[in-house]
Amino acid sequence: MRHVKIVATIGPATASPEILQQLLSAGMNVARFNMSHGTQEWHRATIQTLKHLSLQLHAPTAILLDLAGPKIRVGDLPQEGRTLFRDQKVALALHTSVPPPCHTHTAVDHEIPIALEAFPSMLQPGHMVLLDDGHITLRILSYQKDRLICTVLAGGHITSRKGVNFPGLPLDLPGCTEKDLQDLELGIDLQVDYLALSFVRRPQDIHSVKSLLSKRGIHIPVIAKIERPEAVACLSEILEASDGVMIARGDLALELSPEDVPILQKRIIALANRMSKPVITATQMLESMTRHLVPTRAEASDVANAVLDGTDAVMLSAETSTGTYPLETLQVMDRIIHKTESEVRYSSYDAALSNQARLAIPAAICQTAVSLAKKIAAQAIVVFTESGHTALALSNNRPPIPILACTPSQFVVNRLALVWGIFPVLFNLIEETDQRIRLAQDHLKESGLLHTGQLIVIVTGERLGTTMGTHLIKVHIVA
Ligand code: PGA
Ligand code: MN
Repeated sequence: MRHVKIVATIGPATASPEILQQLLSAGMNVARFNMSHGTQEWHRATIQTLKHLSLQLHAPTAILLDLAGPKIRVGDLPQEGRTLFRDQKVALALHTSVPPPCHTHTAVDHEIPIALEAFPSMLQPGHMVLLDDGHITLRILSYQKDRLICTVLAGGHITSRKGVNFPGLPLDLPGCTEKDLQDLELGIDLQVDYLALSFVRRPQDIHSVKSLLSKRGIHIPVIAKIERPEAVACLSEILEASDGVMIARGDLALELSPEDVPILQKRIIALANRMSKPVITATQMLESMTRHLVPTRAEASDVANAVLDGTDAVMLSAETSTGTYPLETLQVMDRIIHKTESEVRYSSYDAALSNQARLAIPAAICQTAVSLAKKIAAQAIVVFTESGHTALALSNNRPPIPILACTPSQFVVNRLALVWGIFPVLFNLIEETDQRIRLAQDHLKESGLLHTGQLIVIVTGERLGTTMGTHLIKVHIVA
């Protein structure tokens, strides 16, 4: 079993039932639906198909609905787009459609509409503007109220709806847009397993979505996407507020700079591990495989290094949403993770954990269970968990063997699919401990997850219905 999980973004290249089935069979653990693209109808239909297939194939899968957030985009351009050449002059204009050429007041080569009410007030001549994920670079020459006159530093082809970044500038935009709220309704309606919030800047951005959900008695875990400099400045507060975190390296590298990303990745992963929050390393992991069957050497190293850093999951974006080889890319990612995990022993975790101050009882039980499992060379850890918390606490100790997490909730099954090292199993928990263990053993044997004679460590609580009431460890030989 692979410990590090794979998140695959579903798009036109992967939405058919045949390909979804192939991705599930090839080990996709989390399916990400990016609300920046596609219609609600498309997302609804595809999510429903996937949910159905995942149950049918007994492949626990989390559905992650990724809300677009306040991303600035190019407005509507003619179908053919515009090609910008170096040293040309471009006007970025605050309206969503292009006026006829005779209306262009300053002599510029192109006028590009920007879908924004106002430009950030801090913009100054000399500042950079990046278009299309940084493929095109402009420098501001002069700033009029509703037009920015720029010179093209690095040209390229631009079409409607591509992203616009003003690197490093704080933006006064809402945390959640009208569209996000509509997409949130879709997520609630479809009972997705995770929501991701883009361009989070402060813990309040997470709190407001959570209170919106809790007012309606709904619980969906929320993942904060770290892609703004403001978020980097209050990482631990944002992690504290959220249920998981994504290192959104695409926008992060544009808002900061590419050289900031590797160290930030390590910092965010270490912090998330310490706080027991699942962490996803995202964007361009196997980018060249959108067009080629073989990854670059740098990409293979990138996936392996994220595994070594301690990430819970690695993510595929364009590789699976629009790429030519979605299945092959997933297989390559799976192989890189397997290979890396077979060499690494996560031994640094023991040292880090043994330095911790006094622990709460369930956390201490989980740490001890993992250490015991290693000492006796157990082949699996079986945990009974109602909320999923105990499974997360076990995962946090990075055991070298699978954690079979038995839970009576389908939602907890799906959610745990994202978490490092956990194999979630739907199983009704029986009140009486000995009977619970016996029935679970039979069920796990029938599912082919355990075999007679195997040595396992069991973690459970005596009384059900108490959060983190875990306090029992049992060494058990599968009968
Ligand atoms: P996106 O987020 O793909 O929604 O932009 C990930 C990133 O920015 O890296
Ligand atoms: Mn992004």
